[in-house]
Amino acid sequence: MSLTLIRNGTVVDPSKSIMERMDVLIDGKNIQDVASHISSINASSIVDAQGLFVIPGLVDLHTHISSSICPYLGLEPDKFCLIRGTTTAVDAGSTGELTFEAFKRFVMSVSHTSTFAFLNSESLGMIEYPPEVSKQKWADLLTADNETYYQNFTNLGNIKRVIEANKGKIVGLKWAHHGRNSLKSTSDMGKKLGIRTMFENHHMPWGLRHLRGGDIITHLYHNFYNKLEERVDGILDEDGEIAEEFYKAKKAGVVFDVGHGGGSFSWEVAEKAFENDLLPDTISTDLWLNNVNGPVYDLLTTMDKFMLLGMSLEDTVKATTVKPASAIDSNAGTLNPGRLADIILVRNSECQNLLIDSYGKIRRASRKLNLIKVFKDGKIFK
Ligand SMILES: [Zn+2]
Repeated sequence: MSLTLIRNGTVVDPSKSIMERMDVLIDGKNIQDVASHISSINASSIVDAQGLFVIPGLVDLHTHISSSICPYLGLEPDKFCLIRGTTTAVDAGSTGELTFEAFKRFVMSVSHTSTFAFLNSESLGMIEYPPEVSKQKWADLLTADNETYYQNFTNLGNIKRVIEANKGKIVGLKWAHHGRNSLKSTSDMGKKLGIRTMFENHHMPWGLRHLRGGDIITHLYHNFYNKLEERVDGILDEDGEIAEEFYKAKKAGVVFDVGHGGGSFSWEVAEKAFENDLLPDTISTDLWLNNVNGPVYDLLTTMDKFMLLGMSLEDTVKATTVKPASAIDSNAGTLNPGRLADIILVRNSECQNLLIDSYGKIRRASRKLNLIKVFKDGKIFK
């Protein structure tokens, strides 16, 4: 068996509250040992991580990796997640019960990246893209006639069958922004099926009454105006203060997720939230075709933004490893011996770093997380 020793690095593993200089031994696909000194006698290769952080492979709770199924939305996970440090990518509702099988066959089963999915409560998944370059108005059908059309695009019996046939791959339902009726209906389905649901942060705070502990709210720090309802939406109320209901939801165990996206991360909203102690549980990208070349790029760049907001490196790593993994009951996101050797090596470099939000606003950081190496199942991918 081939043994790889990563030595002299600083291990950051918040699942065990470790942040100290340690060695890591990889045996084939798995982590064999993490200790302050491991002998190199039997190692077939040695990686010197002097000056680097040794971190569990990142877990991105909100991505769109349904490449070839959703050609205007989905990214190839190995090409855009894995080599950028995300060893586990969770698709957030790109596909529904009619399209999930193709997603599983053509993406999940052929990717090196570990993949999971939230199943869209709408049978066809996210059909609205591309909104700008076409006159097609698929999504408008779903909210038409005072949202009653929505019921024609969902099928509880089929959803149940697909979820049962794909336990361990489908980790929840996804509600994707098509009006109050569909939010309530998705919440009801989640309860009936006994499965967690990921909700987008729209029609809030009204919608929070339909979330239970363990459900996830994503796009936490967006700054959208709700056109359907002609009012502000998200965490801020009409006076620009944090709506009280969000603190109650957090206390009740709702998972607060970033879901940066091309339109859902505002520096001003995030700064207001940090001033008022409304912090994220999980940091995710909402990576898809239209934001992968900016302003999102990848999860490490999103982590840079939260370190600038005041989170420590350890807390930022926690929100991108063990926290998102536990939100979907996965045992990824740690360096526990016996686990798959999903590991990244990162340098925290001092440099000028301009960080752009989804609305074109820039903040200046004086440091940046640079990815040096990615191990997935013990193999080097970068
Ligand atoms: Zn999304």
